Amino acid sequence: MSTLIQELALRRTFAIISHPDAGKTTLTEKLLMFGGAIQMAGAVRARGEQRRTRSDWMAIEKERGISVSASVMSFEHEGLSYNLLDTPGHEDFSEDTYRTLTAVDSAVMVLDAAKGIETQTLKLFEVCRLRDVPIVTFVNKVDREGRDPLDLLDEIEKTLALDVAPVTWPIGMGRDLKGVYDLLRDRVILFDPGRGDHIAEIAVDANLDDPRLDEAVGKAAADKLRDDVELVRGGYPEFDLESFLAGHLTPVFFGSALKTFGVAELLKGVGRLAPAPLARKADSRTVEPAEDKVSGFVFKIQANMDPNHRDRIAFFRICSGQFKRGMKLKHVRSGKVMAVYNPVFFLAQSRELAEEAFPGDIMGIPNHGQLRIGDTMTEGEDINFLGIPTFAPEVLRRVRLDDPMKAKQLKKALDDLAEEGVSQVFKPLDGSTWIVGVVGTLQFDVLTTRIAAEYNIKAGFEDGGFVTARWVFADEPAEMERFMAANKSNMAQDRDGGLVYLARNSWQLGRAGQDFPKVRFTATREQH
Ligand code: GDP
Repeated sequence: MSTLIQELALRRTFAIISHPDAGKTTLTEKLLMFGGAIQMAGAVRARGEQRRTRSDWMAIEKERGISVSASVMSFEHEGLSYNLLDTPGHEDFSEDTYRTLTAVDSAVMVLDAAKGIETQTLKLFEVCRLRDVPIVTFVNKVDREGRDPLDLLDEIEKTLALDVAPVTWPIGMGRDLKGVYDLLRDRVILFDPGRGDHIAEIAVDANLDDPRLDEAVGKAAADKLRDDVELVRGGYPEFDLESFLAGHLTPVFFGSALKTFGVAELLKGVGRLAPAPLARKADSRTVEPAEDKVSGFVFKIQANMDPNHRDRIAFFRICSGQFKRGMKLKHVRSGKVMAVYNPVFFLAQSRELAEEAFPGDIMGIPNHGQLRIGDTMTEGEDINFLGIPTFAPEVLRRVRLDDPMKAKQLKKALDDLAEEGVSQVFKPLDGSTWIVGVVGTLQFDVLTTRIAAEYNIKAGFEDGGFVTARWVFADEPAEMERFMAANKSNMAQDRDGGLVYLARNSWQLGRAGQDFPKVRFTATREQH
């Protein structure tokens, strides 16, 4: 077997989706602990703290208890290589999350046992469903009083219209938590409340009829478990790999991220069940991971990861072939060839040069703005990977520059940050100051803080009188000129010089459309 096929079979590229507070950070930390990527609990937070002291905008995360920037963490466990793509949980950051989900092959959905499916879980689930991403469910916080597990399963089944197949089952909950029962392998994993930071597990190979089960968890709990399992096995389908891979069924694990309980089972489950890198659709054909030519796409750009170096990293998912450092790849959008000399892998606490990479791997490619979200690179073929969404700006505000001497630097800051794909910058043709569009208003706070921290510029955002933006296109240049002349105070250009119509209200937008039927209005940059 070729190295490529062997290596790609060992990759699992996944994301964790959850509502804020369900325990994603805690679970991430514990997964990294199993992967030996960090030595002790608290390191993910500690890493966050470090970043925060370097760059103030992270203070927003802390203040509001949200995590803003998605990142990649790679680790190994029992011979498999995992790439965990972190996604921000807050709804104002959803475009970033959506795009990150285009780069994974599966997702772990974390639920709080007391809360079940929450609004953000549902939204993220819908994105996964659109792309048939297989989902593994982890019901977290069983060390606290939660809802009846059967109730939770019913909720998942009904709310998400998804078959559920429990893989582990909790024995008690909260103060009475005794362990979980592994339904696939008929054994008990005992809960030891004192072992939060340890990763050893105590397993008893005892099936339901075994008296050792009663010894291990007590007669009452064992009997309850027997009843539960009978109900579960009667009421829910058995785990079916095909159905899971098609996105129709979710295996369910129970545990406590905080107490590092049930996490090993979850990780093993992801390793065993979740798919290795899958084929990806491009415009002219489907690309198989085992093809020998390298291809991949950019799903995220992050500016100033290291504020001292003004760097700009493109996160590139490899879709096929074996990448070697120094390789020349064609940047399909521009047609130019780019030698990739210094790509990096992201480990939990550091970066390292990526000497070689395989499908499913995420490389960070430093660049000066050539690479944009959605760009494809190949060894020469002109294909474009599909399905990386662009977003219509939903809230518009005018930039207020407190120090007029810094207009040029501010322009640079706005452009740099717009490249990350979370905000868009428009320059009104009447010469007035920039209008910035975002999907959620919280982004303005992030921008203000980042502009201050990373560019040392005091700026703010205020109402600019516009509510919505539309890119405008016309087949005849004369028609476009007529349109622009009639709408002078509403016209602006995006960063690429594309013409944009800014509307003061929906009536005005409707009117412009009626008056100029030959002008096409689109909510995103792409013409449809
Ligand atoms: P995130 O917002 O989804 O990243 O959630 P966090 O991992 O930050 O967790 C939110 C809160 O829930 C924190 O106070 C955690 O300590 C707590 N938490 C996370 N997992 C568990 C768990 O398994 N049991 C209990 N009791 N608390 C947990």
